[in-house]
Amino acid sequence: MPFTPFHLGPGAFFKAIGGERLSFMIFGGSQNLMDVEPLARMIRGDAVLHGMSHTIAGAFVVALVSTAVGRPVRNAALHNSGIGDHPIGWRVALASAFVGTYSHIGLDAVMHADKNPLWPIAYGNGLLGVISAKALHILCVVSGLLGGGFVALRAVRNA
Ligand SMILES: [Zn+2]
Repeated sequence: MPFTPFHLGPGAFFKAIGGERLSFMIFGGSQNLMDVEPLARMIRGDAVLHGMSHTIAGAFVVALVSTAVGRPVRNAALHNSGIGDHPIGWRVALASAFVGTYSHIGLDAVMHADKNPLWPIAYGNGLLGVISAKALHILCVVSGLLGGGFVALRAVRNA
């Protein structure tokens, strides 16, 4: 997806479901890491924007990097913010990164013809056009509103 922020909508929804077992910060970080390759290819003027990073194998590696970088950054950032949030463990970090990268390739596959998610096992993209790009964007926004609303409600109730 050319606009990474759309991925944050489902992220808010996953956060609403996962609660303490999912770090929205690491989920978000993994979205940015996923789209480093398409951005670099866009700048280079490549015909194919979604390469290795947008395959199941590539997303696995991006998730590991997101975990290794994201956990210490997330824990330090929230520790220094004074919010009083407790540090997360490697399991939560890993789960957040994998939910992030695999939801990313799933959503991107719906609207990008240059993706081969199953490379090197298979070429092609069976999810392309399953729903329209407009419907996909609406789904992302609605899931963000629902998830964000639920997370906010839970925070108010626990305050
Ligand atoms: Zn992408």
